[in-house]
Amino acid sequence: MDIHEHQAKEILAGFGVPVPRGGLAYSPEQAAFRARELGGTGWVVKAQVHAGGRGEAGGVKVCKSEHEVYDFAKGLLGRQLVTRQTDQNGKGVYRLWVEEATDIAKELYLGFVLDRKSERIMLVASSSGGMEIEEIAEEDPDSLVRMVVDPAHGLVEYQARELAFRLGLKGDQIGQMVKAVRACYRAYRDLDATMVEINPLVITGAGDLVALDAKMSFDTNALYRRPQVAALRDPSQEDSREAMAHDNGLAYVGLDGDIGCIINGAGLAMATMDMIKLSGGEPANFLDIGGGASPERVMTAFRTVLSDPNVSVILVNIFAGINRCDWVAKGVVEAYRAEGLTLPVVVRLAGTNVDEGRKIIDESGLPLITAETLAEAAEKAVAARPKKAA
Ligand code: ADP
Ligand code: MG
Repeated sequence: MDIHEHQAKEILAGFGVPVPRGGLAYSPEQAAFRARELGGTGWVVKAQVHAGGRGEAGGVKVCKSEHEVYDFAKGLLGRQLVTRQTDQNGKGVYRLWVEEATDIAKELYLGFVLDRKSERIMLVASSSGGMEIEEIAEEDPDSLVRMVVDPAHGLVEYQARELAFRLGLKGDQIGQMVKAVRACYRAYRDLDATMVEINPLVITGAGDLVALDAKMSFDTNALYRRPQVAALRDPSQEDSREAMAHDNGLAYVGLDGDIGCIINGAGLAMATMDMIKLSGGEPANFLDIGGGASPERVMTAFRTVLSDPNVSVILVNIFAGINRCDWVAKGVVEAYRAEGLTLPVVVRLAGTNVDEGRKIIDESGLPLITAETLAEAAEKAVAARPKKAA
């Protein structure tokens, strides 16, 4: 799960990372008020969206007057911001962060990720901040410093000092860097994060270190024990199909194809997507309805899949163990009627109560396409797609 920059800054500041003073705004008036409240002569207005690359996309601006803050906020709020890290629809801007402008002498990069190879948290830093890590890796690979952290000791002081030296820091900056990296590591570890990135971490004109940007992601499977993090979720930044599925307790991942999938079990769902591809089609989603699915749950799954406008065929594939084919069949028939469906629906049922399930499908009088095997179901779904006009 991702969070906003202002939330990440608040968390990191709590662990001891220096950040600029700032305030949230939901309207242009409030943005101008924040600027006045902060005082000074320069402010940065920043779109709060779950994506980086805001600067070059027009989502971050240094302003010199309250009027400028107001005007920029007015133009930004309510817009979809498209950056190189979003899709072509972008992310909605519903809140802004207004902070004091910082005098930048140098921009550094600091990130923490999970390195699966060493099975440890890895620290990545560079003296070439400002650009994205992929660009740094391409344009200035020698500047990259990587260190893995031994979980038994945590990020120890000498490691942090070595990092500061390798980044070319001097004097007080070394102590500040040691404090900042250790704070980020603690935040990462204590809150079950999967990523912490400060880009840029800057050296100010006065020679101090300050985090001008902050990004954090968290392990969704650990949110149950981190209610303070779970509370930061912002559904406005999520894929609306995935948010709907999440709220209904379905495991759903949106994809780009047109064959909507309703499957039970993650393994069968993966296998079905493979079979669709093998038959020459593209799945529109991964969806696992789970075990013991009631007809209502199947209907919710239909609604979730249908909320994707690209879907032109639905493939229901159930291998019932804990599930019951008759319940699923009932859900399919009810959903078909309730949603007034006209698109082709392919149903393959196997396992518990399969005869009762098939009977419900057959006797429904609906134009449902049935299949006996997974391969047949995938082929029929691909064949049932409406022919695109040439
Ligand atoms: P993104 O990574 O999404 O583009 P950033 O928060 O990194 O957004 O902002 C983009 C750039 O704007 C930064 O690299 C920095 O140069 C500048 N910037 C951001 N915040 C401030 C600030 N408080 N003072 C001065 N410049 C800033
Ligand atoms: Mg940035």
